[in-house]
Amino acid sequence: MAKNAKTGITPTREEDYSEWYQQIVRAAEMAETSAVRGCMVIKPWGYQLWENMKAGLDKMFKETGHVNAYFPLFIPLSYLEKEAEHVEGFAKECAVVTHHRLEDNGEGKLIPTGELEEPLIVRPTSETIIGATYAKWVQSYRDLPILINQWANVVRWEMRTRLFLRTAEFLWQEGHTVHETSEEAWQETKMILDLYKKFAEEYMAIPVITGEKTPGERFPGAVNTLCIEAMMQDRKALQAGTSHFLGQNFSKASEIKYQSRSETIEYTWTTSWGVSTRLVGALIMVHGDDDGMVMPPRIAPAQIVLLPIIKNEEQKPAIMAYCQKITDKLKQQTVFNRSLEVEIDTRDINTGQKSWNWIKKGIPIRVEVGPRDMENNSVFIARRDKGPKEKFSLTVDEFIQQAPVMLEDMQNQLFKKAKQLLDDNSKQIDQHDEFYQYFTAKNKNKPELHGGFAYSHWCQSEKCEEKIKSDLSVTIRCIPFDQPAEKGKCICCGKESSKRVVFAKSY
Ligand SMILES: [Zn+2]
Repeated sequence: MAKNAKTGITPTREEDYSEWYQQIVRAAEMAETSAVRGCMVIKPWGYQLWENMKAGLDKMFKETGHVNAYFPLFIPLSYLEKEAEHVEGFAKECAVVTHHRLEDNGEGKLIPTGELEEPLIVRPTSETIIGATYAKWVQSYRDLPILINQWANVVRWEMRTRLFLRTAEFLWQEGHTVHETSEEAWQETKMILDLYKKFAEEYMAIPVITGEKTPGERFPGAVNTLCIEAMMQDRKALQAGTSHFLGQNFSKASEIKYQSRSETIEYTWTTSWGVSTRLVGALIMVHGDDDGMVMPPRIAPAQIVLLPIIKNEEQKPAIMAYCQKITDKLKQQTVFNRSLEVEIDTRDINTGQKSWNWIKKGIPIRVEVGPRDMENNSVFIARRDKGPKEKFSLTVDEFIQQAPVMLEDMQNQLFKKAKQLLDDNSKQIDQHDEFYQYFTAKNKNKPELHGGFAYSHWCQSEKCEEKIKSDLSVTIRCIPFDQPAEKGKCICCGKESSKRVVFAKSY
């Protein structure tokens, strides 16, 4: 911690939220920028978090009948041309491979040669390449459904990037399913959305709202896009997962046809759905505080760290043995259906510095173990969801027994806190002026945190949607499922409306 700074991270969220985010990613040792513009290096602490998230999602996919497979990184240009809207959506951010060889020009410079007959696109998403494969796999209704997920990296050539939130290359999962009927594909689309909601809320401790996107915000080529939206601490929305009902658009583009039960040839119905390393960004922005990251225990890379306090070398062997004994016992305990993840920090740096290091990384529980604790058969404990100086003592046995309960409690508290933020900053707004005020910062030069989720009426015209977007940089995040039909007037033009939608600024 810098001298005179009162918090682990400077600036604080209140002072400069965007800079706070950049600092926290670095201080928590989760990721850093790389030599390749727009591409990040995910460091071990961030990657372990992603692996835990992956494991949770993967289990849910498999429990609902899906299997994993892997498809090529490259997509022939002609494949992308097959679905007109799809091309339009991705054309401006494609990495294109045009050559396959390098030749020395005689002056030590390597020159690409061997031009490809057909350029290859580094996948921005895989509907077309997977569709082409499915077309070969599917002959009859007996071959359906296909329920496949892929864990992969994708590239979307972004010019303005931010670690985890928007990077040229990112990691994700993409599910691609094929069905016999429209109804079955629609059920799949909805089921996956429920699964994403469950994952966000129960694993990530992030409350989300579910709904469908407006036509203007849909995935390019989809008939309907469903989404989960979460509120960050600066009250902006982040789309945390999407599930697309693709109708027959992609099966027509890729010729995925089957012989039906009545022996006619029909086009199949497909879906696709995904979440990405963006979720890590969401996790930071929902739970992080002015001292650093706060990891929800269920997916934390490690849940407990033991910090041996060694004043002189003679004490070292005994304290290390004591720490090892505690660690072994803790590892026999389970929480969230897995063994406790425990680390011992043996680095030769002072305890205060070590402690701050782990606060910034957001480990749920820190345990200090010094000579006196060893004598008393006790440990000194600090929880990441309490103040950095708030510590308490327990006997070793008490601690080992209570650790899982403490972690479960923290998980619940984090969810509650995030839910409170969402509730406190969600508002029904019916007046045009109030709506504009809500989304306008009072201080134009250095905008304070403002706005939130506005539940307001919308007449369903693209014109009103566009006007609000250009006036306020506010978009319709979704047409929420949990809102009843209700008569009202469009917040933009005053025309009749039958339902409220959720407006917010977003990432
Ligand atoms: Zn309107």
